[in-house]
Amino acid sequence: MMKGLAEHLSATLEDIRADGLEKHEMAIGSSQSGRVKVGGREMVNLCANNYLGLADDPEVVAASVAALEKYGSGMASVRFICGTHELHKQLEATIARYLDKDDAILFGSCFDANGGIFETLLGPDDAIISDTLNHASIIDGVRLSKARRFRFATSDMDDLETQLKIASAEGTRFKLIVTDGVFSMDGYIAKLPEICDLAERHNAAVMIDDCHATGHLGEKGKGTPALTGAGNRVDIVSGTFGKTLGGAMGGFIAGPQPVIDILRQRARPYLFSNALPPAVAAGAIKAIEIAEAADDRRETLARHTNRFRTALTDAGFDLVPGETPIIPVMLYDATKAGAMASALQQRGVLVSAFSFPVVPREKARIRTQMSAALTDDDITAAIDAFVAARRELETVR
Ligand SMILES: *Cc1c(COP(=O)(O)O)cnc(C)c1O
Repeated sequence: MMKGLAEHLSATLEDIRADGLEKHEMAIGSSQSGRVKVGGREMVNLCANNYLGLADDPEVVAASVAALEKYGSGMASVRFICGTHELHKQLEATIARYLDKDDAILFGSCFDANGGIFETLLGPDDAIISDTLNHASIIDGVRLSKARRFRFATSDMDDLETQLKIASAEGTRFKLIVTDGVFSMDGYIAKLPEICDLAERHNAAVMIDDCHATGHLGEKGKGTPALTGAGNRVDIVSGTFGKTLGGAMGGFIAGPQPVIDILRQRARPYLFSNALPPAVAAGAIKAIEIAEAADDRRETLARHTNRFRTALTDAGFDLVPGETPIIPVMLYDATKAGAMASALQQRGVLVSAFSFPVVPREKARIRTQMSAALTDDDITAAIDAFVAARRELETVR
């Protein structure tokens, strides 16, 4: 490699390490579940997006295996050439019905879905009004579009209205408000009814990214529109099959027919990237079927969430308030968060420290996530480990 560039990259990596921001990967040697094996050792897992425990569900696995054996490893084509399988059509119909939308379109990931939608729907005369805490894929997708960009302070409805008024005053043609349904780093739920009120008053469309909600929040797991009562006032929903809905991969957008139709014609990640493997589509279809009926799993998830939140609060930990299964434990300092994560891992609890650039500097944390795959004993072990790990770190200091 060109000498100057390699040296420059090494120096940057050195800075990342010195700031305590280096991310380490741990290799899991089991299936993703409430307990996982890392280096042969069993650990309680508090950091997967496996909210309902479907990632290794036997029925989901069986559906995928059957499709793999019948249809092979993949399509070796983009959708419009010869990459559309009957299972893709079935999954699109399933997700559209589940989320009460006209239609849906699949992408290789939700990152791709968010990357492709904005430049397809909107042009230079239009406006996107985006929450400042939106997921990186929305930020990148908005950057790729030629629409005018407006940002509102997270969940601040006064600021949203101000931005809508500015966009109107500047004579923009169409306005689209976009927000995460659940903000992944904090676990906050977007104020969807208020957002929809403002959208109606100012003639804007509403899009949400419901990756951290579809399948486990709201009635039948239909996500934040169901949970907040906003329902079908939300026009467009993007989501993933890589979290609650089976944990494999794949993204989607569900919405009005013309939106889905134009995405099929113009969305670049759809036109220029390989179709999802049929086995992944089959697993996702089964996962949606299970999720829709899984009130028992949602109850377990809510029970763990309440118990863990209450216990850590009572033990004096600084949690971001909320009600979703995302429970961030604030440490603020990246090095402290890293030390806490290591101390927990030594006690058999798998957690991950989050620091810049995933969260703002000085807002380092351990983001824990509950799962229906965890048992009551796992939650007890996790609570005990947090208390013991903190005691150990305080003694060292
Ligand atoms: C996980 C996530 C994504 C990315 O989904 P993938 O399917 O993994 O690409 C997008 N948006 C939000 C809010 C997410 O949490």
